[in-house]
Amino acid sequence: MDRTLAADLARLPQLLDATRRAAGDALASLDARPVVPPAGKPAADGEPESLPERGDGTEAALAAFRERWEPRLSASAGPRYLGFVTGGATPAALAGDWLTAAHDQNSNSALDGAGQDLERETVGWLRALFHLSPDHSGTFVSGATMSNTTGLAIAREWLGERLGVSPAEDGAAALGPVRVLSGAPHSSIAKALAVLGLGRGSLVKVPTLPGREAVDPGALDRALADTPGPAVVVANAGTVNTVDFDDLQAVAALKRRHDFWLHTDAAFGAFAALSPDHAHLTAGLDASDSLCVDLHKWLNVPYDSAVQFTRRRDLQARVFQNSAAYLGPLADHPDLVHLTPENSHRLRALAAWFTLRAYGREGHREIVERDIACARALGELLSADPAFTLLAPVRLNVVCFTLAADPTPARLTALREAAAAEVFVTPTVHEGTAALRAAFSNWRTTQADVHRAAQALRTAAREIA
Ligand SMILES: *Cc1c(COP(=O)(O)O)cnc(C)c1O
Repeated sequence: MDRTLAADLARLPQLLDATRRAAGDALASLDARPVVPPAGKPAADGEPESLPERGDGTEAALAAFRERWEPRLSASAGPRYLGFVTGGATPAALAGDWLTAAHDQNSNSALDGAGQDLERETVGWLRALFHLSPDHSGTFVSGATMSNTTGLAIAREWLGERLGVSPAEDGAAALGPVRVLSGAPHSSIAKALAVLGLGRGSLVKVPTLPGREAVDPGALDRALADTPGPAVVVANAGTVNTVDFDDLQAVAALKRRHDFWLHTDAAFGAFAALSPDHAHLTAGLDASDSLCVDLHKWLNVPYDSAVQFTRRRDLQARVFQNSAAYLGPLADHPDLVHLTPENSHRLRALAAWFTLRAYGREGHREIVERDIACARALGELLSADPAFTLLAPVRLNVVCFTLAADPTPARLTALREAAAAEVFVTPTVHEGTAALRAAFSNWRTTQADVHRAAQALRTAAREIA
């Protein structure tokens, strides 16, 4: 064994302690350090370093990381990082993630260990959390984009079943032209269609309700009537700009008149089901044929984690089966290796298992409701300030706002950068107007953070005036 490696092995407990202390320091400083460090040079001390020919062990690597890279990372685990839709990691989720690395399982088959059974137990808990019926099976994937891609791959195979071909066997061209109908789809839907050989051009935008991002069910009805043959509908349960929800029950009811696969992108919107005041937004979720829920957002587990639910595991296995002599035939409960794009399968369910085991439905309901209350409070503070205008009501956990005077992209960038040490928000365009979004999904965020964020945005608006 390499001498440095052997020395590290001999001191493993001390090295783990040193790493734990470094993690503790980083988390303890979340409140004090800039939410996003000022943009800098490519590396803290100039050029990227070259590959070490001979290493000097974990302790030296840890010191180099803390000196050169740690100060340049964002405080995205903290309470005032409100960009995109970004969760942190609860204490239990962090513990689960550490142990995932320690055990380093390849949980993709029944050949060794109970890793995939742990994942199945966790999927059952998530099904209960979102009130899904046992007809939905689920698998963990690396994020909502991969969940949408997997769901739409199953949709593609369903189209083949309807037309008497198998795209998994014969290629996507066997389907002929395909239409994927959606009101205000997330950008990852177009990416998924590009990957799947259906093409970004197969996405047909259906009109939304006036002044809303929710699909107009009447317009969807007409678009389906105009579609020759079976179609795919992507319903949106939580759009990223204004967190608008399609009327999922009305969309599902169209199945009585039209032949379509219903995929629902509920990446973070599914968590509305945890709040009694907002659960109605997710009514009808269970009717989806495939369903995407992100976990590294509002469940507050570390990246990379999302789940893909479907009612047609048989079609899923037809697409993703990985036949190899050592894996054996597909059974009634196919191993995970036959269900997702990856073959090797990190035990990423463990972080979700830990946080659900530690805090339960109640603990996670409290996080969701506190974040919603924080979004509402920021919305009220900004709309009371003449410098800002809200572009949509705060429906759930996102505030979509802009400058009241002259909201150009350049001025919004200046505003974001002036506030970035205290609060991080991300740009968007809503109905043709350049805007900013503040999204609340971190378990640490409190009303005190809302006031700090509002103050920073006010000060920044004055500075750029
Ligand atoms: C975040 C998000 C995605 C993509 O999620 P990743 O985890 O970044 O792949 C897809 N759809 C919606 C609605 C989202 O909010």
